[in-house]
Amino acid sequence: MILDKFSLKGKVAIVTGSNTGLGQGICKAYVEAGAKVVGVSRRPSTETAEMLGKNFYNVIADLSSVDVIPTIIEETVKKFGRIDILVNNAGIIKREDSLEFSEENWDTVLNVNLKTVFFLTQAVAKRFVEQKSGGKIINIASMLSYQGGIRVPSYTASKSAIRGVTMTLANEWAKYGINVNGIAPGYMATNNTEQLRQDGERSADILARIPAGRWGTPEDLQGAAVFLASSASDYVNGFTVAVDGGWLGR
Ligand code: NAP
Repeated sequence: MILDKFSLKGKVAIVTGSNTGLGQGICKAYVEAGAKVVGVSRRPSTETAEMLGKNFYNVIADLSSVDVIPTIIEETVKKFGRIDILVNNAGIIKREDSLEFSEENWDTVLNVNLKTVFFLTQAVAKRFVEQKSGGKIINIASMLSYQGGIRVPSYTASKSAIRGVTMTLANEWAKYGINVNGIAPGYMATNNTEQLRQDGERSADILARIPAGRWGTPEDLQGAAVFLASSASDYVNGFTVAVDGGWLGR
């Protein structure tokens, strides 16, 4: 039956950035769909853990360094026995005029949004190959995987790159039964957009351009996140799906 294909029963997922925002929404959706979830966060994911109980396990790790990757893999396998799904959701944004943009704001963003994403994905894919199980990798991209944005050069670089790398990895790993796809959220009401939403003029401009007429929510991302983690999407590979209230079509 078609709805059974969307089930994540028996699957084990790693979701980064599990304490808040879109990552928290994805953890909740996966547990509701039947998975066990390891949430990775630099601060304890207390609220998520209270919400999800025994099907959720929190690994504390700062993803600005790749040193934490072996621990994430080991703790997941120790706790739940295997890995089937990885969602690279954790990400940061730094806003500064490009004429003044600092090296620190460049490196900090590229490390979390691109370097660690690539090497965590590589480590999880090695595990999928060892397990001979295939698996699903979902990279959280952005409208700025398609557009330039303003005052966010390192963020745009990271999110454009992640869309490209998503295609590279799909090309290389399809033969192992691994799907690598992306989700490009539109403008969502989370901490990431707090500064934008505080800026009356920018906020009004953005809202006026969203055909749906509202900012998105973590719940809006859940359907695409479950689809791309489930066997319903087995023939979808290397693509970044926009969940944007119509923004890109405007
Ligand atoms: P958010 O509320 O700011 O969440 C970002 C998550 O990443 C938080 O859990 C954050 O932890 C975590 N994180 C950041 N740096 C980390 C590090 N060094 N180590 C471990 N975790 C780290 O924003 P969000 O909107 O939910 O963002 C989730 C993803 O969606 C990001 O990749 C973002 O770029 C992308 N996105 C968001 C929007 C939007 O409109 N909101 C649009 C397009 C794409 P802390 O809470 O500890 O900082």
